[in-house]
Amino acid sequence: MNLEGKNAIVTGGSIGIGTSIVLHLARAGANVALNYRRHADEAQAVIAEVEKLGRKGLAVQADVGSADAAARMVAEVVAEFGSLDILVCNAGINRDAVIWKMTEEQWDQVITTNLKGYFNYIHAAAPHFREQKRGCIINITSINGLRGKFGQANYAASKAGIIGLTKTVARELGRSGVTANAIAPGMILTDMARKLDQKWLDAAREETVLGKLGELEDVAHLVVFLASDLAGHITGQVISVDGGQYI
Ligand code: NDP
Repeated sequence: MNLEGKNAIVTGGSIGIGTSIVLHLARAGANVALNYRRHADEAQAVIAEVEKLGRKGLAVQADVGSADAAARMVAEVVAEFGSLDILVCNAGINRDAVIWKMTEEQWDQVITTNLKGYFNYIHAAAPHFREQKRGCIINITSINGLRGKFGQANYAASKAGIIGLTKTVARELGRSGVTANAIAPGMILTDMARKLDQKWLDAAREETVLGKLGELEDVAHLVVFLASDLAGHITGQVISVDGGQYI
C-alpha cells in the first residue's frame, strides 16, 4: 500500500498503538505529525525514526482536550507539509472504577480526552478536508464501546460515543470525498498491557477465538489499509481487530 505524498496526523503517537501507527504510515510513504502530552523523549525518538525513513515528521506537545491546540496543530501541519490527508484519532486514557465508585473527575477526564479529543481534531480538520475535497478519518475506538465493560462506564461510553461520531461525520463529509471509519481493537499487547497481572491477560486471551492477543501492528496494518486508495469505498464502518474477542 502506497501512501507517498500523503500527510497524516496521529493523536497520541508517543507510545503504544499510536507509535506503531505513526511508523507504519511513514513506512508506507506518508509524512506524519503526532501529538502527545507527557512522553516528550519518546515522541522525539518516534519522529527521528520517521525522518530516518526519509519522511517529514513533527511532534507537538498538546492536550487533545484543547480545541485551540487542535486547531493550531492542524494549521501547522497544513503549513509545514502542504496539506492534511489522513487524521488518526488515537489518544486515549482509562480511569476505571465501578459506577457507584466512579468520581466526577474520572468521568470528565475520560470523556474529555477520549471523546472531546476526537471531536477537537475532526472539527479542526474538516474545513481542510472539505476544501480539498478529500480526506480520511480513522478513529480508534474499542470493543468495550460495543459491548460495555465492568468497571469502565466512562471509557465504554466514550468509545461508544466515538462510533456515533464516526458514523455521523461519514455522513456529513461523504459528499466532500472524505471517508470516516472506526477501528475497535480488543486487548492489544502494549508495554502497559504486558505489565498486567497474568490472570487478566489469560482472561482476555480466553475470550478470543484465535487464542491469542493482538500485537501493535495488527491495528496499524488496518490503519494503513483504510488510509490507502484501496479502501476508498469504505466509510462509516466499525472494524474490530480483536481475534474474535467480541463476536
Ligand atoms: P497508551 O497509554 O499506550 O498511549 C496513549 C497515547 O495517547 C500516548 O501517546 C499518550 O501520550 C496519548 N495521550 C493520552 N492522553 C492524552 C492527551 N490528553 N493529550 C494528548 N495525548 C494524550 O495507550 P494505547 O496505545 O494502549 O491505546 C491507544 C488507543 O487504543 C486508545 O484510544 C485506546 O483506548 C485504544 N485501545 C487500546 C487497547 C489496548 O489493549 N491497548 C484496546 C482497545 C482500544 P503521552 O503518554 O505522551 O501523554
